[in-house]
Amino acid sequence: MNLLVTGGAGYIGSHTVLELATREHRVVVLDNLTKGHRAAVRGVELVHGDTGDTGLLKDIFRKHNIEAVVHFAASSLVGESVRQPADYYHNNVVKGLAMLDAMVESDVRRLVFSSTAAVYGEPVEIPIPEEHPTAPTNPYGATKLALEEAMRWYDQAYGLRYATLRYFNAAGADPAGEIGEDHDPETHLIPLALNSAVGLIPHLEVFGADYPTPDGTCVRDYIHVSDLAVAHVLALDALAGGAASSVYNLGNGNGYSVLEVIKAAEEVVGKPINIKYGPRRPGDPAALVAGSRKIMDELGWRPRFADLKTVIETAWRWHSSHPAGFDK
Ligand code: UDP
Repeated sequence: MNLLVTGGAGYIGSHTVLELATREHRVVVLDNLTKGHRAAVRGVELVHGDTGDTGLLKDIFRKHNIEAVVHFAASSLVGESVRQPADYYHNNVVKGLAMLDAMVESDVRRLVFSSTAAVYGEPVEIPIPEEHPTAPTNPYGATKLALEEAMRWYDQAYGLRYATLRYFNAAGADPAGEIGEDHDPETHLIPLALNSAVGLIPHLEVFGADYPTPDGTCVRDYIHVSDLAVAHVLALDALAGGAASSVYNLGNGNGYSVLEVIKAAEEVVGKPINIKYGPRRPGDPAALVAGSRKIMDELGWRPRFADLKTVIETAWRWHSSHPAGFDK
């Protein structure tokens, strides 16, 4: 298939591009490189530009005869979204809509959309099934949900078929060590725990120890980034085979608390991690654990790296060989 991957130089995007390339899809990446890395895009064309630029999108669709889009490009930090909602509405909704319009106008009607467990908000049931009510507790989740809803109406009116993938916590790195996670500034738990273990940061702050969870810290479902990548390939294949639009959760179905993640990271690195307890991070629900039965049953997806320690080991391999990320 001829594919456009927006945000393909970012963390999950670049791992998906790697997976797509092994399946012999022809991929063009569009990335504005505000967060992504040129060096994360291997062996496929990278167009430096913005998803809000409909003229550019239409040129790419025409020039490369694009048949489907995988849309990653977005702002994706819970805490930042609470402080800067305008950026999130602009990047995720306004630019997302511009892209949907360009797709419809160019007759590109298949889309795999990168969404999030943050659309659910505070769960009323765990593991969370896809039909769980959506009530985001932060602008990140709200803006992802807004585009999900637009897609539903675009499908009905314009025949834009989609697979929405609601990721839980993406973690780990390419097991071959080619690429990995490199955010600036880093805000995610596992890379920060690894940075703290090797002394790159003096301590890791635990955001809240008074949650209604077994040890008081937030519980999340960590899914390996390469397992996420495979799900995009399966979703594209299903759409190409005529599948109707769908929404799928993607997680392992196992919840780990912040303290459990830290303990596993200490075991992987073989060093203690300095922690300090701080206040809750605004917008964080207490627990998010996926029910991923639907994508297993319908698309045959299976996680290859379900074990948390294995996930952290792949992250550690990347971090220890690239302490300065892609710049090194
Ligand atoms: N977290 C933490 N300290 C940090 C970063 C994250 O305690 O320095 C917690 C955060 O509150 C959440 C979990 O770790 O409960 C995972 O956060 P992360 O930012 O990695 O992913 P998110 O859940 O925001 O997608």
